[in-house]
Amino acid sequence: MEASGDCFDVIVVGAGIMGSCAAYELAKRGCRVLLLEQFDFLHCRGSSHGESRTIRATYPEDYYPSMVLESRRLWEAAQSEIGYRVVTDTSHLDIGPADNKSLQSVLSSCNQRTSLNLRILDPPALARMFSGAFRLPEGWIGIGSDAGGVIKPTKAVAMFQALAIRRGAVLRDHAQVTEIKKNDQGGGLRVSTAAGDVFEAKKCVVTAGAWMRKLVKEVSGVDLPIEPLHTTICYWKIKRGHEEELSAEGGFPTFSSYGETYVYGTPSMEFPGLIKIALHGGHPCDPDRRDWTSSCSGVPVDAVGSWIEQVFPGRVEADKAVMTQSCMYSMTPDGDFVIDFLGGEFGEDVVVAGGFSGHGFKMGPLVGRMLAELAIDGEAAGVEMNHFRIRRFAEDCKGNAKEFEEQVSSHARP
Ligand SMILES: Cc1cc2nc3c(=O)[nH]c(=O)nc-3n(C[C@H](O)[C@H](O)[C@H](O)COP(=O)(O)OP(=O)(O)OC[C@H]3O[C@@H](n4cnc5c(N)ncnc54)[C@H](O)[C@@H]3O)c2cc1C
Repeated sequence: MEASGDCFDVIVVGAGIMGSCAAYELAKRGCRVLLLEQFDFLHCRGSSHGESRTIRATYPEDYYPSMVLESRRLWEAAQSEIGYRVVTDTSHLDIGPADNKSLQSVLSSCNQRTSLNLRILDPPALARMFSGAFRLPEGWIGIGSDAGGVIKPTKAVAMFQALAIRRGAVLRDHAQVTEIKKNDQGGGLRVSTAAGDVFEAKKCVVTAGAWMRKLVKEVSGVDLPIEPLHTTICYWKIKRGHEEELSAEGGFPTFSSYGETYVYGTPSMEFPGLIKIALHGGHPCDPDRRDWTSSCSGVPVDAVGSWIEQVFPGRVEADKAVMTQSCMYSMTPDGDFVIDFLGGEFGEDVVVAGGFSGHGFKMGPLVGRMLAELAIDGEAAGVEMNHFRIRRFAEDCKGNAKEFEEQVSSHARP
């Protein structure tokens, strides 16, 4: 076992999906890697646990679809290497008012990509599909696409940790990083934990999820605009006789519903007889002092129930969610990721990746590769990094300019 004082090529802080993928990619490149996690491995207190995450390649921003397609290729490669599957392939459906700017941007950013096989569906056409489960209001459209899927998140994180170990990475939990310092003697970095261990490394990759802002501020004074939101996933009881048609085996898609409330869902898989339909949003929280409320401030569950009655009628018991699970988003003002060098006294020695804003899981394998490349080569091949740089917030505190409305809703506490 590694001991305090050991020296690594790269230390990765935080063993969610991003840190686990980064540790794997670094170890694959022959680096001596240490992955440090403050809690138990595979804990439920961050963002990467649970039963399902959607893969969709349809984004209003034109820089994400190609990243999703590349990440999908890396998901396949990792599954081949480990010998079991964590992704179930599905189609994906986007719906919403035809004049919704985000939905229009989805069309313009994805239309050229033939591999997505985009299909525009009017309400009658959609009513004929998926056993008539969706009843679109007047003026709404649907956009069907391929390259969707459902990932099992906890199993996926465990897969990348196992692959990292196989490639020689050292993993350690109950190791809360409290300090990252430049090493005055001999260069490199000194990484200290709350337990008093000190490790040395040439580089450090910080993927601390909802703790990103706290940790980075403590370590460097840099204040990243990443806000933790407490969010709640809801599962709804499927009405008797409709279980098969809403299942992944029955061909049901993952879906996103644009509009005043952004609702998303996955086919019935993880709990037979239940389907996940949830609101993309939450309320601000301190990741160390969460109230674990399952009503998610009351607003979302009601909003999802109303959405179900309007758009998805007759298939589920919409009066109440029968099961809920808590999780955290790490929101940036523009909903885009932060992937960059920390800069300042750390220059390119510390790479940070956070602010995945409720849509990062599918990108994990690609982000892991980008982080490994940034730490080793100083640049990530094939990805336009400008959207993810920290300096965008210095130029405009809202970050990247968007021509469409914000999709994630932040609800104040009741
Ligand atoms: C309800 C919900 C639904 C989502 N749905 C989707 C979806 O459908 N599709 C999709 O693509 N994405 C989705 N996401 C987003 C996705 O899950 C996240 O973007 C992703 O899990 C973020 O991973 P992470 O590794 O950055 O953070 P985390 O998983 O939180 O990992 C960070 C880790 O760092 C550790 N850590 C923090 N500070 C320290 C420290 N000082 N020392 C050591 N360790 C530390 C934490 O304990 C944690 O384990 C969803 C998120 C939620 C919450």
